[in-house]
Amino acid sequence: MTFALSSEHETFRRSVREFAEAEVAPHVAKWDKDHFFPVDLIKKMGDLGLFGLTAPEEYGGADGDFTSLCVAIEELGRVDQSVGVTLEAAVGLGINPILTFGTPEQKDKWLPDLVAGRALAGFGLTEPGAGSDAGATKTKAVLDGDEWIINGSKQFITNSGSEITSLVTVTARTGTRDDGRPELSTLILPAGTPGFIVEPAYDKLGWHISDTHPLSFVDARIPADHLLGERGRGYAQFLATLDDGRVAIAALAVGCIQACLDLCVQYAGERTTFGVPIGSKQGVAFQIADLAVMAQAGRALTYQAASMRDAGASHAEFKQAAAMAKLYTSESAVTATRIATQVFGGYGFMEEYPVARFYRDAKILEIGEGTSEVQRMLIARSLGLPVE
Ligand SMILES: Cc1cc2nc3c(=O)[nH]c(=O)nc-3n(C[C@H](O)[C@H](O)[C@H](O)COP(=O)(O)OP(=O)(O)OC[C@H]3O[C@@H](n4cnc5c(N)ncnc54)[C@H](O)[C@@H]3O)c2cc1C
Repeated sequence: MTFALSSEHETFRRSVREFAEAEVAPHVAKWDKDHFFPVDLIKKMGDLGLFGLTAPEEYGGADGDFTSLCVAIEELGRVDQSVGVTLEAAVGLGINPILTFGTPEQKDKWLPDLVAGRALAGFGLTEPGAGSDAGATKTKAVLDGDEWIINGSKQFITNSGSEITSLVTVTARTGTRDDGRPELSTLILPAGTPGFIVEPAYDKLGWHISDTHPLSFVDARIPADHLLGERGRGYAQFLATLDDGRVAIAALAVGCIQACLDLCVQYAGERTTFGVPIGSKQGVAFQIADLAVMAQAGRALTYQAASMRDAGASHAEFKQAAAMAKLYTSESAVTATRIATQVFGGYGFMEEYPVARFYRDAKILEIGEGTSEVQRMLIARSLGLPVE
């Protein structure tokens, strides 16, 4: 399968790059320092159509392909990772579950605002005792007449507590299957529901501009029709959501590697030691050459997976490609930020240079939407190995 980006994709890439350079780059250092969530920027991203790239026109979207979304995430992520992940989570974790599994009524109610960037949705899967082992969900939802009553908690949920968050989709135990395993379902929990408590935002190592909260549910009641899709399909729903999300995170990681490359090429040409630019030293230049290889190889894996998604590849094929793209790009991004910080010397450790921010932001790429170990587990299983 080939993955060459079309001239339309490349034109679109340039427009997102211009937007990111004009609207994000000048402000990002201050927003990061202040842990400020830029709602006005979200609205501008909405006006540019970024949240609706893959949504049907009837909800205000562009009916475009998944590859375009990856291009947008890569380009935003090249300027700032938190802004990139805000788009990634808004579409991949917020809009997509409703678009893919929602009823026509749910789509009509929630999608227009989400697609326009007037609202954000979170995806509440992870719990204190259920991260990599997401099936170990303890949050419970009990049907009481025509309402679900939800009790439990979630943690590390992106876009879940911003001033424009309209809902969080939550996975919960809704019963027990015939084989004794828990029945998991997904429910739509509107923001402001009594008993839906958004705890204060985390103090994170990186992604300072991204909105992340723990959530608790204490007898939170929602109408029965807020069940997302079919009862008992929660497990399959979140697995499918995460497969797409992994490719989108890979695009974000490619943006991080490209940023390191661009910053290093410029700096190594300007900074002189011993009377010559540091870029004339093989010890520096060869490391920057490695960054260029990582960016290209990461882009190839990412857009190959995205094009498989767009071409309707088999689930097994796509799942393996998504895990490979996520694993390679996230680990390369961590390496790339370490190299970039080294190339910048002492300045690389100073917050006034963006490489310091990329260094802090990169680590989460190896953890979110499935850790590197989970990706290796999925790839090993796809090879037929009986790995647990
Ligand atoms: C900033 C941020 C944003 C996030 N956003 C969201 C969100 O929007 N929605 C959401 O639902 N979640 C979100 N998450 C949660 C994220 O997906 C989880 O943190 C991640 O899946 C890991 O789960 P855990 O933290 O419970 O780690 P654990 O599962 O406890 O893992 C701990 C360590 O053990 C390893 N490990 C676990 N099991 C195995 C195994 N079988 N084999 C080998 N190694 C193993 C892991 O790889 C890891 O190194 C976010 C997390 C962060 C930090």
